Amino acid sequence: MKEILIAGGGIGGLAAALALARKGRKVRVLEKAAEFGEIGYGIQMGPNVSRMLERLGVLAAIEETAFFPQALIFADALDNREITRIALGDAFVRRFGFRYFVIHRRDLHGGLLEACKRQEGIVLESSRGVLGFSEEKNLVKVKCENSADYEGAALIGADGLWSPTRQAVIGDGAPRSAGHFVYRGVVPDAEITDRSRSDSMTIWGGPNLHLVQYRLRGGTVMNNVATIASRRFRRGEGNAGAPDELEATFARCHGQVRDNLRYVSRERNWVLHDREPATNWTRGRVTLLGDAAHPTLQYLAQGAQMAIEDGVVLAEKVAAAGDDLNRAFLAYQRERMNRTARVVLSSRFFGEYIHVDGGARELRNELARRRDPDNPWEVDWLYKGIEVDGRL
Ligand SMILES: Cc1cc2nc3c(=O)[nH]c(=O)nc-3n(C[C@H](O)[C@H](O)[C@H](O)COP(=O)(O)OP(=O)(O)OC[C@H]3O[C@@H](n4cnc5c(N)ncnc54)[C@H](O)[C@@H]3O)c2cc1C
Repeated sequence: MKEILIAGGGIGGLAAALALARKGRKVRVLEKAAEFGEIGYGIQMGPNVSRMLERLGVLAAIEETAFFPQALIFADALDNREITRIALGDAFVRRFGFRYFVIHRRDLHGGLLEACKRQEGIVLESSRGVLGFSEEKNLVKVKCENSADYEGAALIGADGLWSPTRQAVIGDGAPRSAGHFVYRGVVPDAEITDRSRSDSMTIWGGPNLHLVQYRLRGGTVMNNVATIASRRFRRGEGNAGAPDELEATFARCHGQVRDNLRYVSRERNWVLHDREPATNWTRGRVTLLGDAAHPTLQYLAQGAQMAIEDGVVLAEKVAAAGDDLNRAFLAYQRERMNRTARVVLSSRFFGEYIHVDGGARELRNELARRRDPDNPWEVDWLYKGIEVDGRL
C-alpha cells in the first residue's frame, strides 16, 4: 500500500503519524519549518487526552516530564479571592480514569517526535512546505517547497490554523479573530513572589481579562499566561492588544494579580482565532485534522487534545476501511464533527463567562461557588473521553 502523506508535523500531525503507523500504515510527515519543534510555553492536558496518549504508547514517557497540579483554582482577579477549586486527586482519577497534567510544549511535542522516530513506517521530513496537491484515481500528488513532488495514497492536512490544505478543501478564507490577545512568560520558579498557590493551577478571571499560572518541569519554572479581550479591537481602533492595553485592562485588578503581569513578556503576543464548525473537511482522499479542521479558542484548553484524539480516531477508521480511504475519512469526520464543534462553541462561551464584570460577575461567582463538586463545570462529556475500537 502507498504511504499516507501528512502536511504538518505539529502535535496533531505527529500524533496522527504515530497512530497510523501503529496500525501498520506507512506515513510521511512533511513539515514546513526547518526543524520539527514547538514554542517554549506550557500546555494543559486533561484526562481525555491521557487516554489517547496511553493508546499511542507514549503516556508514561510524557508523564515523566509533566507537572501534576493538586487543584485547578478559579479566583476573582479584582479581589484575588478564591471562588472555587477542582481537586485533582484520587476522586478526579476515579471519575475520569487519568490525572490532569501540565507540560512544556517542547516536552509533549518532543515525546511524540521521539516515538515517531522509533516507530517503523514513519518518515519525517522538514523544510517541506506543502504548496498544493492534485488527486488522481487512487493517489494524491503533493507539491512541496524544496523537493520533487510526492505521491501518496492520501493527504492529511495537519497544517494548523492557517492551513493551506483547508483552503484547497473548503476554501473558507481566514479564521475568525476573537480580538483576544495573549502574553506569555516562563520564568524560574524562584522568581515567583506569591507562592501560596504554586502547587495548583490558578486561573484569575476579571473584566475582559484573565491570568493563568502553573508550574512546569518538576516545578522548576512557572508558566504565566495573561489574556485580554481587547476593547480597542471591538471598537475597530489601531494598536489593539498592545502592551499599554494589557496594563490598562489589568489596572483594576488586585495588587497581587497585577504583580503577576511582570512574569509575561511584552515582546510578542498571540491573537486568538477560531472558526465556525464545518461539516466538509474531507474531499476525496484528502482530509483535515487538528487546528486545520476545527481551530478553537483556548478557554477549555483542548485544541491540542482534540488534535491528538483526531489522530487516534482517524487511524482506527483507516484500519477499518482498508484501501477505501475516502470512506475512512468520511467516517472519521462524522465521528469527530460534533465533539470538536462542542469544544469550539463551549470555549467561546467560557471566554465570555470568565471575562464578565458587574452583575454578571456576581452571578458567575455564585454559580461557581455552588457547583457540584463531583462534576465540576459538567465536563463529563469532555473529560471522560471517547471510545475507540469499541472501548473507552
Ligand atoms: C494561548 C494558547 C493556549 C493554548 N492552550 C492549550 C492547552 O492548554 N491545551 C490544549 O490542548 N491546547 C491548547 N491550545 C491549542 C493548541 O496549541 C493547538 O490546538 C494545537 O497546537 C494544534 O496543533 P496542530 O498540530 O493541529 O497545529 P499546529 O500546532 O499549528 O501545527 C501545524 C504544523 O504545520 C506546519 N505547517 C504549516 N503550514 C504548512 C505547510 N504548508 N506544509 C507543511 N507544514 C506546514 C507548521 O509549521 C506546524 O508545525 C492553546 C492555544 C493557544 C493559542
